[in-house]
Amino acid sequence: MAYDKELAVALDAVEKASMICRQVQKTIADTDTIEKTDRSPVTIADFGSQAIIDFMIRQAFVHDAIIGEEDSAVLRSDSAMGKRVVDLVNTQVHLDMQGVYEAIDYGAHNTGPKTRFWTVDPIDGTKGFLRKDQYAVALGLVEEGRVVLGVLGCPNFSFDDRGGGLFYAVKGKGAYMRYLDTKDKDRAICADKIEDASMARFCESVEKGHSSHKKHFQISQAMGIIEPSLRIDSQVKYAAVASGRASVYLRLPRSSAYREKIWDHAAGSIVVEEAGGRVSDFSGKDLDFSQGRVLQTNQGILATNGHLHADALRAIAGVVRMQG
Ligand code: AMP
Ligand code: MG
Repeated sequence: MAYDKELAVALDAVEKASMICRQVQKTIADTDTIEKTDRSPVTIADFGSQAIIDFMIRQAFVHDAIIGEEDSAVLRSDSAMGKRVVDLVNTQVHLDMQGVYEAIDYGAHNTGPKTRFWTVDPIDGTKGFLRKDQYAVALGLVEEGRVVLGVLGCPNFSFDDRGGGLFYAVKGKGAYMRYLDTKDKDRAICADKIEDASMARFCESVEKGHSSHKKHFQISQAMGIIEPSLRIDSQVKYAAVASGRASVYLRLPRSSAYREKIWDHAAGSIVVEEAGGRVSDFSGKDLDFSQGRVLQTNQGILATNGHLHADALRAIAGVVRMQG
């Protein structure tokens, strides 16, 4: 079947990466984290996760490009940290230090539009990860600007709170979840069927700096949502919508100049769409993954169960018009 090999490799890679993230999250120490030039935190698990995923994708699909969040520059300047990353990676795949640096950098230097590429967020929601809360390992495959496959490793989140899960989807084939801790069969997942917003829940980021909680509240009020928001870090929000734990995910940028990163949305968006939901920007436009590392032509993100999408877009238009 189409994408069988891609899916098998992607699931294996994200599972292995999720395992090292879990191990690090349990025992994380100050020396495992450094600050990047944009002041955001990065840990040995971010580097290890990207090294494993890039290496496994490159081994299986030698001609495919990879666009990943991290590069090895900061790691190369801290050899003690580099050594810890190598030890971590070697619990899953065999790679020496040079191999780890090179694997991380497969994903670092691709910027231009490509007909087919993978995009990796080795730890989406690093702040949640450091708070010992939710985070995701995200891997998407993009062809001609559209996501065709996505795997979201959610080590602390599953359909029914039985440990963590891998949420995944292939275009046209539905969305599924595989438990990380049990041998249960993969299960099909679907968004809820709520049409009445007063029965719905919406989710948003924990971090106030990543989107406007104030405007989300106004939008939810305009829709008639009663429940308070569910605040979750990372693309676990997409997994929540895809499995009926929330009906709507709102992400209105704090600044109109902000452009979302492709690796923050590729895997999550296809999981929601294949679960029967809908994903667009705040004007209702499809997400366009053909513009390099960011969603240059999209502003804001709206993911819903599908039934509430038009209502949400109307409410958003009202709130944005009111406040500019
Ligand atoms: P979340 O946990 O959903 O808030 O998303 C985490 C992601 O937010 C990170 O992977 C960052 O790429 C992204 N991010 C960082 N700064 C911003 C910002 N100012 N606005 C929106 N997203 C951001
Ligand atoms: Mg991210």
